[in-house]
Amino acid sequence: MPEGIVVVTPQEGGRVRRVAYEMVSLAQGLAPGAVTAVTFGPEAEATASALGKYGADQVVALNGPAYQRYSSDGFALAVQALIDHVDPEAVFFPATAWGKDLAPRVAGLLQAGLASDCIAVTRGSDGRLQAVRPIYAGKAFATVSIQSQRQLFSIRPNIQAIVEHGRAGTLLPFTPSVDPSAFQAVAVEVRSQASDKPDLTEAEIIVSGGRGIKAPENFRLLEDLADALGAALGSSRPVADEGWVPHSYHIGQTGKVVSPTVYFAIGISGAIQHLAGISGAKYIVAINNDPEAPIFKAANYGIVGDLFQVVPALTAEIRRMKENA
Ligand SMILES: Cc1cc2nc3c(=O)[nH]c(=O)nc-3n(C[C@H](O)[C@H](O)[C@H](O)COP(=O)(O)OP(=O)(O)OC[C@H]3O[C@@H](n4cnc5c(N)ncnc54)[C@H](O)[C@@H]3O)c2cc1C
Repeated sequence: MPEGIVVVTPQEGGRVRRVAYEMVSLAQGLAPGAVTAVTFGPEAEATASALGKYGADQVVALNGPAYQRYSSDGFALAVQALIDHVDPEAVFFPATAWGKDLAPRVAGLLQAGLASDCIAVTRGSDGRLQAVRPIYAGKAFATVSIQSQRQLFSIRPNIQAIVEHGRAGTLLPFTPSVDPSAFQAVAVEVRSQASDKPDLTEAEIIVSGGRGIKAPENFRLLEDLADALGAALGSSRPVADEGWVPHSYHIGQTGKVVSPTVYFAIGISGAIQHLAGISGAKYIVAINNDPEAPIFKAANYGIVGDLFQVVPALTAEIRRMKENA
């Protein structure tokens, strides 16, 4: 009888991403069975104790030469081999760009069901796992269970609190019997954009601008607010399409999906395609000079006003509060 959960932790930028800790915390809360985390790359072994602290009972470190750089088909074969070895009830992937590439490949190899971009996973009254995932661009939420023997889920970042379990996370020796020379595609170089701002998909606070900012140079107002708040910067799609900000800022159905605690939507009308990317935000603060803008229907707090007056005043007030704190 399959038992336990395998958590496939992301290899992005050579460090453990916060979503890895979130996934092992979530998996630990869904026991019975061991939580086995798999890590890749040069730092793989070093991450074992960190993952143990948040709920991994055992950690498989795939740190051989074949796993230093990402290969879609190669990593999928390695994960498949690990799943066959551990025989878990379920497998968690991060719903990041990396996880969205890997999870369907593994599901295909295993002929297993995959629930993608889940915002909750619980155990149903029948004892099976069930997940909640947004549908219709975030307009509705479906509760799904997977009927195949292996159940695969990709988990949206920032939906689960990190819970300390204070374990060590023992290393489980495992070498997948896959032939690295047969990997069909391997990333040859990864270029990360240098930034002192938090990653959009992991950020607690996001300051996001839309076409209401009118010109690229005006984005500086949002940068000042983001600096004062320690926030990441985002945008609606037209702002990125115009080249006012990098495409990595683009949030929504065709951009990044974010789940911050606070999302500032500034000069953004609130089109359904934009809302699809922010349905996981706990609080939405809208600043817009049109009281009829659809964003106010989605927002928890709204300021009807000219962003060119409201944003500098907000930034100044936040700076003043921080100085007096
Ligand atoms: C297939 C498809 C996929 C798409 N995917 C995405 C996606 O992933 N993400 C996305 O964002 N969009 C996406 N879009 C585009 C989407 O439909 C909207 O066109 C877009 O989100 C609108 O961007 P906006 O809110 O910045 O601009 P607008 O709709 O032009 O809104 C600008 C807002 O700024 C306000 N404003 C103007 N001046 C001021 C001021 N001085 N002070 C305060 N407020 C002011 C206005 O009242 C208005 O509400 C997609 C569209 C399609 C067809």
